Formats: sequence, structure tokens, C-alpha cells
Amino acid sequence: MDKHQLLRDLPSVDQVLEKILRKEDGKKIPHEILVEKVREVIAELRRGIQEGRIKTAEKLDPAWVGEKAYHRTKAYLSPNLRPVINATGVVLHTNLGRAVLSQAARESLLTISRGYCNLEIDLDTGNRGSRYSHVVELICRLTGAEDALVVNNNAAAVLLALNTLACGKEVIVSRGQLVEIGGSFRVPEVMQASGAKLVEVGTTNKTYLEDYRRAIGEETALLLKVHPSNYRVMGFTHDTSLEEMVALGREKGLPVMEDLGSGFLIDLRTFGITGEPTVQEQLSAGADVVTFSGDKLLGGPQGGIIVGKKEFIARMAKNPLTRAFRVDKLTMAALEATLRSYLDKDQAIKEIPTLAMLVQPREEIERKARHLAQRLESILESRARVSIIPGMSQAGGGALPILELPTFLVALEPLSGRGVEEIARLLRQGEPSVMGRIAEERLLFDLRTVAEGEIEVLVQAIEKTFAQFN
Ligand SMILES: *Cc1c(COP(=O)(O)O)cnc(C)c1O
Repeated sequence: MDKHQLLRDLPSVDQVLEKILRKEDGKKIPHEILVEKVREVIAELRRGIQEGRIKTAEKLDPAWVGEKAYHRTKAYLSPNLRPVINATGVVLHTNLGRAVLSQAARESLLTISRGYCNLEIDLDTGNRGSRYSHVVELICRLTGAEDALVVNNNAAAVLLALNTLACGKEVIVSRGQLVEIGGSFRVPEVMQASGAKLVEVGTTNKTYLEDYRRAIGEETALLLKVHPSNYRVMGFTHDTSLEEMVALGREKGLPVMEDLGSGFLIDLRTFGITGEPTVQEQLSAGADVVTFSGDKLLGGPQGGIIVGKKEFIARMAKNPLTRAFRVDKLTMAALEATLRSYLDKDQAIKEIPTLAMLVQPREEIERKARHLAQRLESILESRARVSIIPGMSQAGGGALPILELPTFLVALEPLSGRGVEEIARLLRQGEPSVMGRIAEERLLFDLRTVAEGEIEVLVQAIEKTFAQFN
């Protein structure tokens, strides 16, 4: 057909709208958006005709155009932020939202968001209170700190602490600790933004107490230790311990701060999880200030927690940056509930999903893997080969980078002729979205990070994806 005829066959916006409005939920769609999407689809068709991609009139039928515009509008109106089934085995996956909140934290979020709350009111006196008061005592009790402050994330905590304690002054840091944690948090850059001057000492692999001592001068305001988070220097190394730094700090009248990254509050050594100091240990080793995340190993909402000596915390609380970094009632609600779980350590390990996933017994993961594998075998039949293989999970979130967490994976080897990359993409785009791993032309699902209750949903997501090939 010639282009002019096809262009004449293009339906009008009204013709298409009429088809959509006949649908059950058609009238509920915000009209402006619907019209916009209909126009978009018609414009694309017009371009298709002009560029010779559309050669027949069948796709110009108002009903067909209506279907297309309807689905596009629905997709546009559905939330961008969606749940994802995390089958990667990375417990604290920053890109997947880090810590999964406990039931108590989720319930608290609902309760507090439903109405007003006493965020900044002292209910006994009726006077203005402090939003931090709801968690400070708890944090102090759990960590042994004198005082605490909470901000939006640990990056903000470090920036606030450095700006308060060392703006215009020098901060001494080992070269082995000038780390980058995820895209935009790099110790030297945060230091610069805080107004403090970085004084690097030692080398990448070895830094001795003497290196710190020699660097101390008139302008020194702080000795800083940074948890190397996502990497480890191995082999020919020497690290100056926090205790040594504290002794030097005391001798010279300088505070010692540690950016601990993750906020481990329970020693999980008995579960084979070693190599991560707890906040309590660092405070009792004498650190004057310790900062850590709320949504890493602590297992709560995004937040930055600053603990330490009263005089330093008090100075930070008065810094205008604290107002800029302040947390809202939702963070407070989820954080308080998460911290309350820690009052009973055994309970915390069960209730806080991050901890529960880390200490999950292998047999439990294996049982979940069998369950998933059986279900997949029955629905996929000859479309994929299903097997269970041992593997390793990761703590993630920059914590415990070299810890090996033995796990079980369900491996899917598609026999449909479709590439694993394509299947992985369809799974990601599915409803619900699923993220797994890919290795050696197989899709791998790590059951450590998939809850029992998610298995059936995962099965359905996989089934839907494979159904698209038939
Ligand atoms: C993760 C991390 C940060 C940043 O914490 P956020 O809560 O993500 O802002 C800073 N320092 C260290 C050592 C970290 O591991």
C-alpha cells in the first residue's frame, strides 16, 4: 500500500480513546495521561509509515492501536520501584535495597506512617523533644557508647564527624584505608568535602604506629581508621591496631575515630562468621567516635549511626549539617524497631532477616533448593535441565568480603535454544522481577536470599518467562 493511503488510514486520537474507554478500567485512567500515550502511539505509527517500516493497514486498526496505548498507559502508571526476588545470594545487595526489614520494623513503619506521632514531642511534659531521643538510649545500651546521633546514612555520618572535629585541620589516615565504597564514597573526597585536610601515612600494605606518630603536628585534629569494607590486603601486611592508635591519641591529646562501615552488634563467631569487629569491641578498645550504617549488617533502614564520647557527639549535634542530614519519622520508626530486637540477641538473629540469612544452616538452604528444584522440574519438563549444586553466597554491602558462606544453588540449563542472558533479562523484567546469577550458560538461583515464602512466587515467575517461548 502506498504511504499516503496508510497515513489516511491512521486512526484519530478520539477513535482510539473510544476503544480504550470501553474497557472496564478505561474510565479510571487519568485522562491526560491516556491521551498523551495514545498520541505517542499514533505518532510512532506515522513515523513507521513514513520510514517504510509499516506497509499494511492491519496495525492501524483503532482497536489494535487502543490495545497498544492501553498497555503502555498501564505500564506508565505502575510503580517504578518494585519488589525483586533476590536469588543472587548477596545478602546485602546495595542495588537491591540492602537490608530486608524485620517484621517488627515493617509494622512500625505502617503504624507510624498512618497518623501523627511524637517524633519531637516529650509526651510527659508536652514540650518539644528530640527526634533522636527515641533511639539514643537503645543505641548506647547495645553498644556501650556514652552518646549517639543518627543521620541519613554512614557517608553523612563520616562527613558530619570530620567536619565537626577537623574542619580546617589535619586528619591522619593510613594509605591502606583510602578506600572507595561503591561509586561515590571515596575517603579522600569525603575528607575534602568536610573541609579537613587528609594526611596520608604508611603504604598500601603496611602502616606502623610510628607512621602516625611522625605525622602528628600542630594542625592535627584527628586520627582516623577506616574499615576497608569491600577489600582486604593480604600477604606482606601490617596494620596498626585501634588500641595502638588510641594509646597514641591519648598521649597526644587527639581523638580517634573509626569509620566502621557495617554495624555489627552481635558476635556471630559461633556461626562461623569471623573477621568483622562489633561496634562494642571498637568502643571498648577506646575509639572516641565510631560511625556505621543502619542498613548493612545491622539489618535496619538506611541510616548513619554515630556513637562515642558525649563531648564529640554534642558538638556534632550542634553542627548545621546535622539538620541537613536529619532522618525522618519513617527511618526512626524502622530503626527503633530493629534496635529493639537486639535487646534479646537470640531473638535478633531470628527476627532480623540480614542476620537470619547470614547464619542460615546449610540444611535449611538445601531443603529450599530441593523444593525449588522439584517444582521447576515439574513445570519446565524438557525445557530446561534442573540441578542442585553447592556454591558460595556473599554478605555484600562491603562487609565480610572474603567470608565464604557455603550455600546451595538451583541451576537451570535452558534446552529451549534461548540464551541464558535473554532469559535472565526476561526474569528481571517480569512481575515480580527476579535476579539470579549466570555462570557457564546456566542460570543460578541462590536459595540463601530467597525466603521459603518466595519460592512459589519464584516458580511462577520462571514459569511465565519460559511460557513466552512457546
Ligand atoms: C558502606 C560504608 C560507608 C558508606 O555507608 P552508607 O551507609 O552506604 O552511606 C562508609 N564507610 C565505610 C567503611 C563503609 O563500609
